[in-house]
Amino acid sequence: MKAMVLKQISELGENREPLVWMNWPDPEPGDGELLIKVSACGVCHTELDEIEGRTPPPRFPIILGHQVVGRVAGSGAGAIRFTINDRVGVAWIYSSCGICSFCLGGRENLCDQFQATGRDAHGGYAEYMTVPEKSVYKIPGIFTDLEAAPLLCAGAIGYRSLRLTGLEDGQNLGLVGFGASAHLVLKMVRHRFPNTRVFVFARMVKEQEFARELGAAWAGSIEDDPPEKLQAAIDTTPAWKPIVEALKNLEKGGRLVINAIRKEEVDREELLKLDYPRQLWLEKEIKSVANVARKDVEEFLALAAEIPIRPEVQVYGLEEANRALVELKERKIRGAKVLKIA
Ligand SMILES: [Zn+2]
Ligand SMILES: [Zn+2]
Repeated sequence: MKAMVLKQISELGENREPLVWMNWPDPEPGDGELLIKVSACGVCHTELDEIEGRTPPPRFPIILGHQVVGRVAGSGAGAIRFTINDRVGVAWIYSSCGICSFCLGGRENLCDQFQATGRDAHGGYAEYMTVPEKSVYKIPGIFTDLEAAPLLCAGAIGYRSLRLTGLEDGQNLGLVGFGASAHLVLKMVRHRFPNTRVFVFARMVKEQEFARELGAAWAGSIEDDPPEKLQAAIDTTPAWKPIVEALKNLEKGGRLVINAIRKEEVDREELLKLDYPRQLWLEKEIKSVANVARKDVEEFLALAAEIPIRPEVQVYGLEEANRALVELKERKIRGAKVLKIA
């Protein structure tokens, strides 16, 4: 099969073609696994973290990609949940131990043995992949393959982030950063919490305009003061300054949820500007989001079909993955980037 393969860590600023287009042996499904013929794979900020070494794959070469849509093309012994040609998706959770207290409590996202698709195991930047059938989901019929792909990460982790804010209808929500995940959260909030006002903080004017088009009550830059205090906020940026700024905008007792797998080192000194009385005192909370549990993916796909949420997508060929990644890094973002594979 054809695949876009990562062979080593490098900086996208210096190496604009980190993935290599090559022939790769066809994968075979093992016990309990499915073989999936990939048709679409979303491009995620986490791939930049993998390529640049902030969340490095443990082995090379590796095939990235964890927002995979395709059709079941084969199954290993004991894999019985799906039949050939079923349209399915694969998300960031590839596998977990299944027996620890976190796994048994439905928080397998926190399992010590958590394996991520496209980092610890080969993902969807390829024509085929294999995956444990436990980590495979039916895709609701209303979505095209290309629309469904970004729902599997950006949407599912956005869903988890929103759940962790504890937001109630009518409370103000801030979205700090406005990429693929945040734009899906905005759509979820408009459906689930119709009386909630959403305040979007984004670096680019284009992102701010996009937020207003989607129904944000207000949109400005990260440093701007919003017209009202926020009961909750979700940060999806790779930097530290937005955290410090967002805490200042929280209402007393408010909660900031950080949805970022790693923070970049470049602006760490911004943290020294944290002013305890202004930014943390009065019971403000900070909580991070790690990975996704299978339930997040299942519940979010059902919610997305009900609303419905149709992500804005920008389509690239598989062999154009490097260009998609560079454009993501350079924040040429409008909606979600998806590789069309078959
Ligand atoms: Zn992702
Ligand atoms: Zn476990």
